[in-house]
Amino acid sequence: MIELAMIDNKIVRTRIAPSPTGELHIGTLRTLLYDYALAKKYNGQFIFRLEDTDQKRYVEGSETRLLETIKDYGLNWDEGPDIGGPYGPYVQTERLEIYQKYIKELLDKGFAYYCFCTQERLDNLRATQKAAKQLPRYDQHCLHLSKEEIQKNLDNKIPYTIRLAVPKNETIIFEDLIRGKIKFNTNEVDDQVLIKSNGIPTYHFAAVVDDHLMKITHVFRGEEWLTSTPKHLLLYRYFGWEAPIFAHLTVLLNADGHGKMSKRSGSTHARAFLDEGYLPEAMLNFLMLLGWNPGTDQEFFTLDQFIEAFSVEHLHKKSPIFDHKKLDYFNGYYLRQKSDEQLFILFKKFLPEASDDQIKILIPVLKERIIKLSDLKIQTKFIFEDVEYDKELLLKKGTDPKLAVEMLNKSKEIIKLNFNDLSTKLTDLIKDNNWNIGEFFMVFRVAICGTVFTPPVIECLPALGLEKTLSKIDIAISKLN
Ligand code: GLU
Repeated sequence: MIELAMIDNKIVRTRIAPSPTGELHIGTLRTLLYDYALAKKYNGQFIFRLEDTDQKRYVEGSETRLLETIKDYGLNWDEGPDIGGPYGPYVQTERLEIYQKYIKELLDKGFAYYCFCTQERLDNLRATQKAAKQLPRYDQHCLHLSKEEIQKNLDNKIPYTIRLAVPKNETIIFEDLIRGKIKFNTNEVDDQVLIKSNGIPTYHFAAVVDDHLMKITHVFRGEEWLTSTPKHLLLYRYFGWEAPIFAHLTVLLNADGHGKMSKRSGSTHARAFLDEGYLPEAMLNFLMLLGWNPGTDQEFFTLDQFIEAFSVEHLHKKSPIFDHKKLDYFNGYYLRQKSDEQLFILFKKFLPEASDDQIKILIPVLKERIIKLSDLKIQTKFIFEDVEYDKELLLKKGTDPKLAVEMLNKSKEIIKLNFNDLSTKLTDLIKDNNWNIGEFFMVFRVAICGTVFTPPVIECLPALGLEKTLSKIDIAISKLN
């Protein structure tokens, strides 16, 4: 790989900045992957910053879960809350003094102003604007308060927020890395609250200050932030700072192509996919291609190959569909790459009730048959549980109950005699009795598994064990008598 340490003489520094409001979203994991690839490609740094200024939405413990989930996907950061770094702290509520200093600068320069409006006034304003079909925005009521009025309100301890002073009718233009030139008229931009009445900054203010101080060069984020970018650019301008390069990524769409990916079509949490038995490398490979292409036919990428191939020119403008079938395809591929030793560890995790011997028996039987590791639980349910079923299921192929009992009794004799090499012995039994092979296996399969769709039943018997096999056959016989 060519040693590219910089873009435009700057060390590439990217960041993921999730809020501790719950589990890591799968879309955030995709953003992170692109951030990570860009930083690593140019030998730069990837930073984790916790944006915890919205305390109302705080979910206890989620900050730790976010970090753990990213690690479980095999990704790591160069600076972050747990390991520190030269631009820390990396948790926004630990940086409140820093924001105080910078908001003072904006207030002094007249780029921000105190707003003493009550919630009631703001609610009424919003309702009036809504009724008049106008976009809800602050009417700059407090923009022109005199110094004396402000001081009086402050002395009287009237609660306040601090807002961004947005100029009228100016065009803000910026070059989005994915979308090209983007223009906004400032008349469309609200006088954003920068500091809330509890003294804590909003995301907008904190993120700009932090991105600057942490020397972030590229900001990948979801397109839902696009309309916030003019506010951020105004802040950069007011401070006289150079803005990072923005790349607003497409949203992930539901599998039916309608709307943003939502819980409607399964979980949206990165953690849930791991719990379901998707392999980290399969999910990452799937996400790599969900908004980027290599410009070649190559489909399978390790993380290192992705870093090498990654280029911002090949990021997509069109929103991709989160196609679960494609994800299954990648998972199947990566599962088949695993050695039996690696599968042993994975099977054990997803079948904690199985003994080591049972796992060893099940690996060759099941490794080609599962798409994700949680399928193991479903496929082997009969080994660990008594599965309830109706007698009719045994006779699904129209088998006479008496014949079914005979089949089961004779199988039982054979199994009792010798529990090994049952495949040949049962096939001989079918031949000797002139039974229909499909009919026999339906009866036998349902007797053992309690369902119709099962893994190869004879191969699973050693994992079930002699005693349980015989008792399941007895239960089936008693149902038929
Ligand atoms: N804290 C924001 C979020 O939760 C980050 C947005 C950004 O990357 O600027 O999505």
